[in-house]
Amino acid sequence: MGSLNEYVRKRRFARTPEPEGKKRTRGAEKGSRTRGAEKGPQRVFVVQKHRATALHYDFRLESAGVLRSWAVPKGPSLDPSVKRLAMQVEDHPLDYLSFEGVIPAGEYGGGTVMVWDIGTWEPDEPGDPERSFKAGRIRFALRGKKLKGSWALVRTRGRQWLLMKSRDRSASTDEVTLTKARSVLTRRLMAGIARDAGGDVEKAASADP
Ligand code: MN
Repeated sequence: MGSLNEYVRKRRFARTPEPEGKKRTRGAEKGSRTRGAEKGPQRVFVVQKHRATALHYDFRLESAGVLRSWAVPKGPSLDPSVKRLAMQVEDHPLDYLSFEGVIPAGEYGGGTVMVWDIGTWEPDEPGDPERSFKAGRIRFALRGKKLKGSWALVRTRGRQWLLMKSRDRSASTDEVTLTKARSVLTRRLMAGIARDAGGDVEKAASADP
């Protein structure tokens, strides 16, 4: 299992509405949710648009009982010729999957969070994707509402990785972060999420197209 120690250490759960760092064992870990032996377990992924000190997109893939996480400053690109910097950050609990709202100013990551995309993912190679993460190179398929098809994450050094779209039918030059800017859970823009939770609407709105 991944470790949530860093996640818990960075947050004060009496002040932030984020989920506490409880580890959960999903069916995927036990292989009980397999859809036919050849398909393998379903793993979830989420991309959260986060207007903290700076705007970024948190890209999270379920593995080893946690959400392995990367902060992508410019967000994912559907264009295979574009490589996006992805800084690996602390593992997040699986409960983080549906977190949308406002982290109070002054708390870690203070600002507005939107569930920008959600769905399932699977590694291109059979076996435990943890081996690929450790090796710093993984190819995988996304089945989200906005992001689909084949992708790759490649480590360059330390916590620094590159997120890249692979060439396939779902590749495009569409600037998906601009053309599909709304929450996949609530259809709200960043400003709407901030307004509903009593956050900084002006700061959040600066991240809307
Ligand atoms: Mn973030």
